[in-house]
Amino acid sequence: MAHVCIHWFRKGLRLHDNPALIAAIRDCKELYPLFILDPYLHDNTRVGINRWRFLISSLQDLDCSLRKLNSRLFVVKGKPEEVLPKLFTKWNVTKLTYEYDTEPYSLSRDKNVTTLAEERGIQVIYKISHTLYDIDRIIEKNNGKPPLTYNRLRDIVKVLGSPKKPIPAPTLEDMKNLASFSEKHKQEYGIPSLEELGLDTSSLAEEIFPGGEQEALRRLNKYMQRTGWVCSFEKPNTSPNSLSPSTTVLSPYVTFGCLSARTFWWRLAEVYQGRKHSDPPVSLHGQLLWREFFYTASVGIPNFNKMQGNTVCTQVDWDENQEYLAAWREARTGFPFIDAIMTQLRQEGWMHHLARHAVACFLTRGDLWISWEEGQKVFEELLLDGDWALNAGNWQWLSASAFFHQFFRVYSPVAFGKKTDKNGDYIKKYLPILKKFPPQYIYEPWKAPRSVQQAAGCIAYARRPSASSESPTKKQGLKRKAPTVVDLMQKKQKKS
Ligand SMILES: Cc1cc2nc3c(=O)[nH]c(=O)nc-3n(C[C@H](O)[C@H](O)[C@H](O)COP(=O)(O)OP(=O)(O)OC[C@H]3O[C@@H](n4cnc5c(N)ncnc54)[C@H](O)[C@@H]3O)c2cc1C
Repeated sequence: MAHVCIHWFRKGLRLHDNPALIAAIRDCKELYPLFILDPYLHDNTRVGINRWRFLISSLQDLDCSLRKLNSRLFVVKGKPEEVLPKLFTKWNVTKLTYEYDTEPYSLSRDKNVTTLAEERGIQVIYKISHTLYDIDRIIEKNNGKPPLTYNRLRDIVKVLGSPKKPIPAPTLEDMKNLASFSEKHKQEYGIPSLEELGLDTSSLAEEIFPGGEQEALRRLNKYMQRTGWVCSFEKPNTSPNSLSPSTTVLSPYVTFGCLSARTFWWRLAEVYQGRKHSDPPVSLHGQLLWREFFYTASVGIPNFNKMQGNTVCTQVDWDENQEYLAAWREARTGFPFIDAIMTQLRQEGWMHHLARHAVACFLTRGDLWISWEEGQKVFEELLLDGDWALNAGNWQWLSASAFFHQFFRVYSPVAFGKKTDKNGDYIKKYLPILKKFPPQYIYEPWKAPRSVQQAAGCIAYARRPSASSESPTKKQGLKRKAPTVVDLMQKKQKKS
């Protein structure tokens, strides 16, 4: 029987290595590639403007690739459980395909949708292609529990063998028997612009990492051509504060599924072939296994994105301090290294892994003693690569709540950045107000003599006007609008 099929894109915004899409095309006479803007997932408190832009670009790119195959992308808004049944009827759908998604929300959504489809006699097919392996198989091989160490995960995946090889994108030939869409359909179901979505785009900076499969593959090719760099890649030796990224920045593309993790894996394997190369955990293959590690943990551990009810998470009596949290989130802690990283996050939606270490440690066990769940929320909103499993897993690691327990090994907000950037060029890039500060003070501007601060045109710690005659006038220095964490800590010390 020739089917009328919806292929439902959620993550997996690509044509290459998309087994569910290939399953959709098989025995199909009419194909509806669909994306649903779900008010739960695509909500402004979860998705910041940078990630919105990445999503919309990715959808435009997907639509463009589908049009080259005489097809197109259909976009609708609403709760999938409500939207899909209407479309099933409207389009006389007989088959539904999608990529398997392990997030708790997605699992329950997909269960509901599958029931609704099957009640209507619609065939439902899903395929695993967001991760290297079938995560449930890893858990099964570990006696029903997620491996809690990276080495254990490695032992298990060794038994499972190499990840599946990626499959090619569909071709015009594959699509030749499909009906093309009527003019009416061509106009309806378009991709909304950011403005049409009512989003405020005034804070958007230059688009450094445009969304979409074409850009993902271009970026992958570019990095894979640097064979020496790929083979000698050791994550701990990459720099958190280089002026251009010292790692691949493929994470947003992997998160949205513009790039298949298996394609990434096998391209690396080709580069490694016959050459001496680094190994997990520090190699690029090793990075993809970290992803697999946290995905497995997120599937096997209940309440993975929370402290309470999470069986592996140390229960900590974190402080609640809205002032400190806001200062961290808004890049005004007063520690230039921390504020530069948070500025990069706000402007570009990405920062290096070790930079994430520094700010995550600072917020939690290092300095502010604020719950990792608060940091997780901020990252979820602002990161282009915001990923439910990886965000929760890495925050638990960094706060020494799970997987890593040496809570006393803390990153200094001053010394850590100096190791790879003595001059503070990274700080100057993201906090241009400190541009004129001499290198010896740029990590701790409050230690500079007042004359140096004045010459640099920035007073790091403005005393209250009544303090001493040395106090900066409005003209001499920059008056901060809100108190910094350094201010707040000093105030607290004075009180006690
Ligand atoms: C507190 C905290 C929160 C984080 N939240 C996220 C998140 O929401 N989404 C996200 O993708 N990564 C997250 N990471 C992990 C990591 O920082 C990023 O994946 C990495 O920096 C992405 O840059 P890249 O693509 O250049 O990495 P590369 O070093 O080039 O690595 C290649 C790929 O491996 C994967 N990877 C690398 N490091 C990790 C890691 N530690 N854990 C899991 N996968 C990894 C990513 O898919 C990445 O694209 C977080 C890390 C920390 C410390």
